[in-house]
Amino acid sequence: MYLNLGLIGNPLSHTLSPSIHSRFLVSAGLNGGYACFETPSKEQLPDVFSLLKKFRFRGVNVTVPYKEDVIRFMDFLDPLAEDLQAVNTILFEDDYTKGFNTDVHGFAETLRENSLDFSGSKVLMLGCGGAAKAVLRCLKDYEDIRLTVINRDTEKAEKILKFLNFDNAEIYDYNYISREAAYDAVINATSIGLDGSPFINMKKTICTKAAVDLQYKPWVTPFLQCYADSGCKIINGFSMLVHQAHKAFEIWTGRKAEIDMQDLIKLSGAVN
Ligand code: NDP
Repeated sequence: MYLNLGLIGNPLSHTLSPSIHSRFLVSAGLNGGYACFETPSKEQLPDVFSLLKKFRFRGVNVTVPYKEDVIRFMDFLDPLAEDLQAVNTILFEDDYTKGFNTDVHGFAETLRENSLDFSGSKVLMLGCGGAAKAVLRCLKDYEDIRLTVINRDTEKAEKILKFLNFDNAEIYDYNYISREAAYDAVINATSIGLDGSPFINMKKTICTKAAVDLQYKPWVTPFLQCYADSGCKIINGFSMLVHQAHKAFEIWTGRKAEIDMQDLIKLSGAVN
């Protein structure tokens, strides 16, 4: 049987998901392919779903900006996707569709791989968009975490934190970064720098244990460059990408693909 897998989002020109899933298919001994459906507007989503059903796709991932828009096409939601109201993995069965969120697993695995435990820690998160929801869902599990969130749109950050019942976080805009402060960890969940622009000046924000970025290109991202010589651990988003993909693959196939991180890094050309 040929397994049709894919990705919906926009833009998709730089995605590494096809390379990662092709490797997973080979390692699991399955015959299949992973196609990209770049979808410029949400008005095109009904056509994309008709096509996916017509060609009997088994599963698709969903990326920016449709993680919320695809929910209306789901017959069922996994509890985590329901909690976050964000779907990044869709399973097609013969008579229903089910939405999952594997970004939370991806971020949790990144923290586990790096032996990071934020219990009792002072953590700063920059950005509060879609991906930040998955980060917040993970951070919520740490006891006595002291979280500060910085976002341009502070009202949006307030709404997201309230929605996730994260009620003990402080929220500020970027003026806060001009004050001196020290954190155990600083997490970048913004898209700043994706277009090649430099990261904001982080000189006054000291990070003692780990700087974690959700971005992974270049390998040492503009945000991680701010902490490259600081002595703290620097971690990019590649591991999160691989682990969310791994969980999605398991949902679609019932099999755990082998993760050879070094091979995937090489294959993806992620190291510049
Ligand atoms: P969203 O568009 O939902 O959110 C973008 C965030 O970046 C918002 O908080 C936004 O602030 C902020 N932002 C954007 N531009 C600026 C700017 N110029 N100055 C200050 N803040 C800015 O995107 P996602 O949350 O989905 O993605 C965020 C990042 O995470 C991206 O870099 C994405 O590639 C990465 N990601 C990585 C994954 C992985 O597996 N490694 C998975 C998912 C995402 P505001 O709300 O004020 O507009």
